[in-house]
Amino acid sequence: MDLGKDEIDEGKGVDALAEELWEHSEQLKRIKFYFDLQQRTAEGYPFVTDLHTGIVMISDRMVKEYELPGNVLVDFDRYWMPLIYSEDVADYENGFKHIFDPGHSGEHNIEYRVRNRKGEYTWVHCHGIVGRDESGEAVMFAGSIMKMDRILHADPVTGLLNRYAFDQAVRDGVSSAVSKGEMGAVMIIGLDNFHLLNEAYETHFDDVAMRQIGQSITNVLPTHLNLYKLDGYEFGLIWPHTSQEEVQIIFSSIQLCLREAKESNDKVFFSASAGAVFYPDSGTDALALQKHAQAALEMAQQQGREQLLVFSRESYEEWLRFINLQRAFEESIEKGCKGFKLFYQPQVDAITQELIGAEALLRWQEDDGHVISPLVFIPILERTRLIIPVGRWIVEEAVRTCKKWQEYWPGFQMSINVSLCQLESPALREHVKESLERHGLPAKYLTLELTESQQVSNSQFVNEQFDYFRQMGVKVAMDDFGMGYSSLALLKTFSCDVVKIDKVFVDNVMDSQFDKNLVKYAIKLCRSIGMAVCVEGVEDKESYEYLAHECGADVIQGFYFGRPEPEMIFQERFRKN
Ligand code: C2E
Ligand code: MG
Ligand code: MG
Repeated sequence: MDLGKDEIDEGKGVDALAEELWEHSEQLKRIKFYFDLQQRTAEGYPFVTDLHTGIVMISDRMVKEYELPGNVLVDFDRYWMPLIYSEDVADYENGFKHIFDPGHSGEHNIEYRVRNRKGEYTWVHCHGIVGRDESGEAVMFAGSIMKMDRILHADPVTGLLNRYAFDQAVRDGVSSAVSKGEMGAVMIIGLDNFHLLNEAYETHFDDVAMRQIGQSITNVLPTHLNLYKLDGYEFGLIWPHTSQEEVQIIFSSIQLCLREAKESNDKVFFSASAGAVFYPDSGTDALALQKHAQAALEMAQQQGREQLLVFSRESYEEWLRFINLQRAFEESIEKGCKGFKLFYQPQVDAITQELIGAEALLRWQEDDGHVISPLVFIPILERTRLIIPVGRWIVEEAVRTCKKWQEYWPGFQMSINVSLCQLESPALREHVKESLERHGLPAKYLTLELTESQQVSNSQFVNEQFDYFRQMGVKVAMDDFGMGYSSLALLKTFSCDVVKIDKVFVDNVMDSQFDKNLVKYAIKLCRSIGMAVCVEGVEDKESYEYLAHECGADVIQGFYFGRPEPEMIFQERFRKN
């Protein structure tokens, strides 16, 4: 074959060091010619190294993928080594240690992670062989670098081992623990609020932050532990031969290192939650263990974050119940809140005992007819914020009923419970306004009870909302007065019309002079600053008489005058009276 001069001379992409050698070596040009032909058909990235000159030829595709300065390089490692994942550098170097020794087969096989031009790490497999001349001297090293099959690769953003590797590690870890009779842990760490970064900062900031976090967590782990990058904002750990205490200690140091990352870089502000499961105590099925660690993480996140939760059968059952209810609520909302019911509990005038209104109390009826308590499901609706669409239905339903009952009982008042997150949703104002207008109910017959006033952190905001409703004519009540420690202070913080004295104040009130005085002065205090007082939880005649006649309560609500009942039962019972 006759090689055209132009083709041989085409030394594009020759780095500065290689230039002089290239100029004077016809042999190199010839090798390059063959190499260029070969790279067009070869799989992966072929390479060839002339061991006399140190010149390395690499394929054009490799130059492009890793942004290398050219395809003929003298000091290849100067460009290549910085791209290798730090933990794999030693393996890379060791891989070359003996292959040029006379007695060695000269075959080279090594896997490592390397960063491409997009900043992603992928696993590569380098397979090469040393070529010797007749005297046995090593003269060439040639082979190819293959990107490894997707299955076994690193997480492209962080360079950590990925979900597949985690599955494999859990399987291996569990079977080895079972054979040794040891206990180990699977742990999933989740970054709280990480998604907010995407909205707050420039694109790719989350990639950079995720890499930093992966590195920070790796730094605090014992050296024998690998950190795995799982889906989304989650990391995995499999920990042979450990205890609950050890896992807790490591989780604390992870939290600490994230906090330090936050302090050193104000853009990175995360906290982490984690779920852990211990094997073989909680099972030996690798997939089930991961699922349970995941559920424990989600529970930890739901229960206020920044904590480690260890899986237990009981907490898992509760979690499943939570998930099932959440699913049922979502379906119900799509069907116009089917399954939710409002029960109504009478409120009577403390002196005349006449019916003056009702509190609407939410119920959830399961498919089998079983009714569950709002104490169980309201927290779920609040955490998932499904209380907002359900709240819309409650307003509509309660206003409609109030309007209807005003025909039987003129001036009938309706109270509705409102959670803090409902108040925070700007749509609530509109819904209340529209509902009142639609049903033609004057605003003064509606009271909104804020159920979680203890948890308000921004009282100015809440007061602004209250003011809006009060200007509209809707009354505002502070529910559950007496629960928690700061009720008295809340009287000063919130501008409302009604205080609802909680049942804890009323329970066994007649048994002690102290309790009698406490409730009496609480009622008097509220009234003296211009608030109406409704006492809840009144169950007997004696308590009623004391609260109404000696303490001066305005309104009484309690089983003594009626339990919460469905609309039609309430209506029939009170219309007869
Ligand atoms: P709450 O607003 O303080 O409602 C009063 C609770 O006390 C009701 O419980 C009622 O049945 C109960 N109660 C009233 N009088 C007596 C009595 O004499 N004896 C006893 N043992 N209990 C009495 P319920 O219906 O289980 O509601 C519990 C809580 O769930 C409510 O407390 C409220 O915080 C929340 N809730 C109920 N419905 C809704 C709603 O529609 N929206 C929101 N956000 N929360 C609601
Ligand atoms: Mg209430
Ligand atoms: Mg209450």
